[in-house]
Amino acid sequence: MGSLMKYTSTRDDKKEIQSAEAILMGLSPDGGLFVPIGNRKINLESYKNMPYADVATAVLEQFLPDYSEGFLRDSIHKIYDNNFNNKAGYLVPINEHLFSLELWHGPTSAFKDYALQLLPQLLVEAKKMLHDDNKTQVLVATSGDTGTAALQGFCNVEGTGIAVFYPHNGTSEIQRLQMATQKGDNIDVIAIRGNFDDAQRGVKLAFNDLELARNLDSRKIKLSSANSINWGRLVPQIVYYITSYICLCDKGTINAGDLVDYCVPTGNFGDIMAGYYAKRMGLPIGQLICASNQNNVLADFLETGHYNANRDFYKTSSPSMDILVSSNLERLLYHESGCAAKVRGWMEQLANKGAYHVGDEVLSRIRGTFTAGWATEEQVSEEIQSIFQEYQYLSDPHTAVAFRVAHNSVNYGKRPTVVLSTASPYKFCSKVLASLGKAVPDDEFDALEALETYSGISAPGTIKSLKNKKVRFEYVIDPGQVVETVLSL
Ligand SMILES: *Cc1c(COP(=O)(O)O)cnc(C)c1O
Repeated sequence: MGSLMKYTSTRDDKKEIQSAEAILMGLSPDGGLFVPIGNRKINLESYKNMPYADVATAVLEQFLPDYSEGFLRDSIHKIYDNNFNNKAGYLVPINEHLFSLELWHGPTSAFKDYALQLLPQLLVEAKKMLHDDNKTQVLVATSGDTGTAALQGFCNVEGTGIAVFYPHNGTSEIQRLQMATQKGDNIDVIAIRGNFDDAQRGVKLAFNDLELARNLDSRKIKLSSANSINWGRLVPQIVYYITSYICLCDKGTINAGDLVDYCVPTGNFGDIMAGYYAKRMGLPIGQLICASNQNNVLADFLETGHYNANRDFYKTSSPSMDILVSSNLERLLYHESGCAAKVRGWMEQLANKGAYHVGDEVLSRIRGTFTAGWATEEQVSEEIQSIFQEYQYLSDPHTAVAFRVAHNSVNYGKRPTVVLSTASPYKFCSKVLASLGKAVPDDEFDALEALETYSGISAPGTIKSLKNKKVRFEYVIDPGQVVETVLSL
């Protein structure tokens, strides 16, 4: 039993807690993120003929050993058998060495469903295990995809409520409708006059408001976050790296043990960190290629070791990657420096000066696994166009960033490259149509139909059906009104 996996904080590694506590707390009180202590090995051979949910159970049992095996197996099967009933998560060959891992066949058509369907179950079970009988009120600031996926995941989950704050006129029209028409008795959806940063600042103020906390406490309500700093958001994403690798073996593209590169469109560094944990477990990943949009702070960091958030913020066509402070990078810094005190220092510099430098030794360790690149808005449009012309493949703007970066990566053509396709192109119809050189109708559903007609590829039914759904939420508030809004939930 002594070898059960425990968790520690990236800023204080004297701490040791179990996975249920890490998931319930989300963030360590010292400001650090929770990371697993030690390592787990995968046995690829034993996963070979398993359905997706069985591989997920086998992997998650190792990382969440304090949860009962029965609970994990049941909840994992309930989610992945219904929503993602395809073993490899849809690995589509683009050409002989380039593959698209389509992770958007779940309920909200973005990869975040893989984690946000499971997180509410892990959270509710953690409360039971730790005898916490408070109501959990989840607050989410979103630029689009997280909000929708979190609403869907927490919809009518007992003992929880969820409120999502998004920038008014700052999401795609489909993303807005996905949120505003969402069912559920325990949900609220609120637009904020401002951009994503204003929404995030408002939510952070609510988390730090002592008076609000006291008021909620007296009603047995505790605030919680569904953002990707939570270990429960990251761990389910390890699985599809493993199943896609097995799928490449099954297709005969590679032999077991051959290296595969993964190119990941990156914002908060969560999805690509899941690949890092898969590699640490022994999955033969060659390079993890970090693909950034014009907000290329990560690409610069991975080249130079300088993290510098003091730069212009660009609003791009891949809004889920418009991030200048990438939270999950802290986990990588901890693992590659092995030193919580160093991480604490860098994060203090980031908070105070917006920048830090990790030094050559840590940089060269990181560069043993990671490479990076980035794409301009024009290059994203070109990529959407060229990948459709050449391969009849329709790509959303986030995925197109990764395709662009993959084409320019050092090993391209020498070994298979898997691009993680993170959203359905039909969440971003206008941008995709415009990139293909087509006229863009004013109405988003006309744009959707035009894209279907032109491409011959049908849109997900869940997106098409939004047209006839009733809009339930139309609140718009100022950034300063988040606290009073939370009080009135
Ligand atoms: C969230 C998101 C990303 C970025 O993922 P991270 O884990 O934040 O790096 C990329 N693409 C889409 C479509 C997303 O929703």
